[in-house]
Amino acid sequence: MKITNEIVIRKAKGLGFDLIGFSRADVLREEINNLEEWLSKGYNAGMAYMERNIEKRQDLKNILPEAKSVISLAVNYYSNKKHSNNVSKGKVSRYSWGTDYHLIIWEKLAKLEKELKELDENFESKSYVDTGPVMDKVWAVKSGLGWIGKHSNVINKYFGSWIFLSTIITNYEFGYSQQMPDFCGTCTACIDACPTNAIVQEYLVDANKCISYLTIENKNEIPEKFLGKFDGWIFGCDICQDVCPWNVKFSQVTEKKEFYPSHNNDELDLREVIDMTTEEFNLRFERSPVKRTKLKGLKRNAEFLLEK
Ligand code: SF4
Ligand code: SF4
Repeated sequence: MKITNEIVIRKAKGLGFDLIGFSRADVLREEINNLEEWLSKGYNAGMAYMERNIEKRQDLKNILPEAKSVISLAVNYYSNKKHSNNVSKGKVSRYSWGTDYHLIIWEKLAKLEKELKELDENFESKSYVDTGPVMDKVWAVKSGLGWIGKHSNVINKYFGSWIFLSTIITNYEFGYSQQMPDFCGTCTACIDACPTNAIVQEYLVDANKCISYLTIENKNEIPEKFLGKFDGWIFGCDICQDVCPWNVKFSQVTEKKEFYPSHNNDELDLREVIDMTTEEFNLRFERSPVKRTKLKGLKRNAEFLLEK
């Protein structure tokens, strides 16, 4: 049976994806030039993996030789809770409040690919959730899910930027979606609000200055020049997304309870983190993205916030 756009959309919605779009698996030239320029300035900080597999990022045929299309998908994770801003607590980025999205979305993707393959055994695919050498954001834009905002996250007109992206590369041809224009206009709210001036120019974030990088991927000490500038963030940072008018006006509360805070993981008591044992850490963050920074990193962040 021939798989159509409508079939993919129906099945993906049935599995809980909120946005689905399609694009031709063209070779990325301009986007790779931009990436290389960003890398040449060292804006990737310690994320050396961004420098690898450029040929796969550029041409999806280096991942799936018969690649013809990309199916981009997004899941809304916004839960209507706000941080307390209690100074004894460290704020956790909204995407990490509940169950690790990789676990949830990998499962959904696997089911979707299986169902499509059952309809047509010639359907071939490879899927990614923000890991691996695939430019999810670029494909999401090409597939019409949104535009890349000046803070470098993808924004959708109906959900804002609280969305998890994923990408299916396939040998199938589909009708392709229309791209959404950039609706940032003259707004600079995210650039103005960033406490460490990490958005060095519109659409360009220097990870060396970004609280999100400094508290998560960063393996080193946090430079002293940032003391007093973290605004209480212990894991990640949402400031540029919190101030974005598209989030302020259009965020929609997700029905997916697995993204709501579990174990009160939306904010962490700083003293509790300092005294936390490995067993406690493993138990509390077993299925949470917070485990990514490891106990050592989380303690470093708590100490940094208490130092100010
Ligand atoms: S995540 Fe925080 S530190 Fe990074 S660019 Fe946004 S506001 Fe700035
Ligand atoms: S805050 Fe303004 S400039 Fe920044 S991403 Fe949102 S709309 Fe664009």
